[in-house]
Amino acid sequence: MRPIALPVLLALSTSVLAQAPATSLELRFTASAETFRAATKRGTLVHELGHRLAADVPFKGDHHELIFLFVYDVWVDLWGQSFADGQVKIESQRKGVSDYEGIWKRTLALPAAERAKRFQEIVVGGRPQ
Ligand SMILES: [Zn+2]
Repeated sequence: MRPIALPVLLALSTSVLAQAPATSLELRFTASAETFRAATKRGTLVHELGHRLAADVPFKGDHHELIFLFVYDVWVDLWGQSFADGQVKIESQRKGVSDYEGIWKRTLALPAAERAKRFQEIVVGGRPQ
């Protein structure tokens, strides 16, 4: 496991799981089982947990602009770059209120270190000093 996945998973277990009411932790896949292959379920689970992890971070834009700063790197850490690239391709095809394709393109135009730095700036900048 590479460095980024461990702190994210620890944060999920200590912050999200410990503080959220049990009823708010329910995750459901809205698509049918036929629509989501096993790999896509895993990728989507990390995506949705990313939303839960960053739920309290003050951020005025589309929340995907925030979580994509670390979701890709967590996928790479957990299952490799090929898996992560495949999930980006799948998510980029999704249509909805978010411009998944555009946000993924803008996010991945930044090197990993820059994504991590940007995320850190948002998280630290949102807290009272
Ligand atoms: Zn999402």
